[in-house]
Amino acid sequence: MAATVKQIWDWLEEVSDPEIPVLTVTDLGVVRDVDLIEDGALITITPTYSGCPAMNEIEENIRVVLSEKGIQNIKVKTVLSPAWTTDWMTEKGKEKLREFGIAPPEGSSSDKSVLFGKAKQVTCPHCKSTETEMISQFGSTACKSLYKCTSCLEPFDYFKCI
Ligand SMILES: [Zn+2]
Repeated sequence: MAATVKQIWDWLEEVSDPEIPVLTVTDLGVVRDVDLIEDGALITITPTYSGCPAMNEIEENIRVVLSEKGIQNIKVKTVLSPAWTTDWMTEKGKEKLREFGIAPPEGSSSDKSVLFGKAKQVTCPHCKSTETEMISQFGSTACKSLYKCTSCLEPFDYFKCI
């Protein structure tokens, strides 16, 4: 019996992000579309960051999960436009990030503060203080920045806005 589009979306909830395993690809908002094709499904994804090595792994993870569910023909199409922005991340996804100790992206990605060379004001995921400072542009991966909280002194990763 062929799976429905709804069922495939549900299954995609089981596909975790290789970089942040608590997040699923649907939390991140990288899955744009699900279409039924002969004997399978076509999944359209938009990379979170172009050049982010995790995208190949996401594609691979989607294949693994869907083939476990008995989908034979799995096609993954990558669409670069419109570009993914952190606005696509779900509220649930942001909440999970916080619980994981990573500050979720704040506000709209249209924030231009970066253009003026100012670090974004980021809320500490541990104590909720806004007294934080950026230590490094690059955190544990190129997709995150390393911050330190000046209130509780805990370092944390900030999921960069693009
Ligand atoms: Zn703190």
